Amino acid sequence: MPDPAKSHAVVIGAGMAGLTAAQAISKHFEKVTVIERDTLPAEAAPRRGTPQCQHAHMLLAGGLNALQTLFPGFEKDLAEAGAVKVRTGKDIRFERPGFDPFPVRDLGFDIFSMSRPLLEAVTRGRILQSPNIGICMRSRVTKLIASRHGMRVEAIRYESDDGPAVTVEADLVVEASGRCGLTLQLLEELSLQKPEETEIGIDQAYASTIVERLDHNTDWLGNITLPSAPASSRGAFLFPIEKQRWLLSIGGNHGDAPPDDRAGFMDFVRSLRTPTIYDAVRDARPLTDIVRYQLPCSIRRHFERLESFPAGLLATGDALCRFNPIFGQGMSVAAQEAVILDRLLAEDVPMERLAREFFAAIQDTIATPWGVAVNDFVYPATRGVRPPDLAQRLQYGAALTKLAAQDPEVHRLTVEVSQLLKPQAALREPMLAARVMSLM
Ligand SMILES: Cc1cc2nc3c(=O)[nH]c(=O)nc-3n(C[C@H](O)[C@H](O)[C@H](O)COP(=O)(O)OP(=O)(O)OC[C@H]3O[C@@H](n4cnc5c(N)ncnc54)[C@H](O)[C@@H]3O)c2cc1C
Repeated sequence: MPDPAKSHAVVIGAGMAGLTAAQAISKHFEKVTVIERDTLPAEAAPRRGTPQCQHAHMLLAGGLNALQTLFPGFEKDLAEAGAVKVRTGKDIRFERPGFDPFPVRDLGFDIFSMSRPLLEAVTRGRILQSPNIGICMRSRVTKLIASRHGMRVEAIRYESDDGPAVTVEADLVVEASGRCGLTLQLLEELSLQKPEETEIGIDQAYASTIVERLDHNTDWLGNITLPSAPASSRGAFLFPIEKQRWLLSIGGNHGDAPPDDRAGFMDFVRSLRTPTIYDAVRDARPLTDIVRYQLPCSIRRHFERLESFPAGLLATGDALCRFNPIFGQGMSVAAQEAVILDRLLAEDVPMERLAREFFAAIQDTIATPWGVAVNDFVYPATRGVRPPDLAQRLQYGAALTKLAAQDPEVHRLTVEVSQLLKPQAALREPMLAARVMSLM
């Protein structure tokens, strides 16, 4: 007998968090409706509702595995759509202070490099094949509607250009809007406590453009140049993407913003710590305008600490936790959260307990990527609560990098952690820690 409590679910937002959550839920609900304010393009193209999509978006191995779990055959779909297969440790040259480049090694697994619009289009293509998922476009959700006693979310209201406001009933509503406005607004209306927030003020500025990918006679497909922090925060990603192109994103923190005119942009590229990217792109034909993006802070909302939260409501993706984009984690964490949601629904966790269990279960998934954010405090201007042992942690990180350069096994482990395949705690195992500390 179908569970009457799992008849209809509404997902707000068709970004990577919304699409992956919809797929997870569709296995357990009769019908899922994704409500999106944008017009979604039929092909891989940028759109207004996700202005960040024109900047470099790395899909980490942990995210790729999660997508493959949710959508069997996903890697094949990516390859067929033109995503570039990249061998970790080998195909993307990695430049960091003291290691230009970091030792090149085949670390034994592949990831894919592509534009964010391509990744989203492939994911959307899979969603559209699901008979019980519908996408309702050009519709902006304006309100979550709770039961009379406020203990359960029962419906949402949306507005579209085409007609009057519409109310849709739902047994489960997932906010995947990239912000958390609707959920916070509801908690306020119900006089319920809002989640505590941890913010790290990074004042990050990106500028990006797509250029033709030249046959440049090098043994790498892309390049990452890290800054000489804290003296400078200027860094860059040059990623191979579909159609023989490179996506180049450059950026800085705390006021060091790259300009959007071509000459100023190239001057910024030339001022990077190494000349590698400038030399690679100086003669490459630009294929798009330069676009910019500013991100004041990373933010983590501690829903797991709340004592009461309405049943039938969840938040996921950036609405829950927005990471510093330079670590490339947001989409991968969103996909991993969807896998956890799928598991909880398969275990038949009752709706009354779903939010509590979901918010608790994803904490381990968030802990590793959020733990990396400690590196943001290397800049004195970064705002937030500095860990009391910051100097020690940064020294540990530097010594670990040295050891990873010497030892291929340690190199592999550090990459597995940064690719969200292993928890950060793996870097503190006693035997490894003793070796790291001997280099401090
Ligand atoms: C410059 C930059 C670079 C980044 N690089 C990376 C990277 O390399 N790797 C990585 O994994 N992540 C990266 N990220 C983060 C990544 O973009 C997000 O983590 C990821 O998009 C998941 O977000 P989401 O689906 O939660 O939200 P979004 O992608 O922002 O999607 C939210 C969706 O909800 C819709 N929406 C919003 N409000 C409403 C409403 N009221 N009604 C209906 N629809 C609504 C929006 O139109 C949008 O489609 C980067 C971010 C930035 C800013």
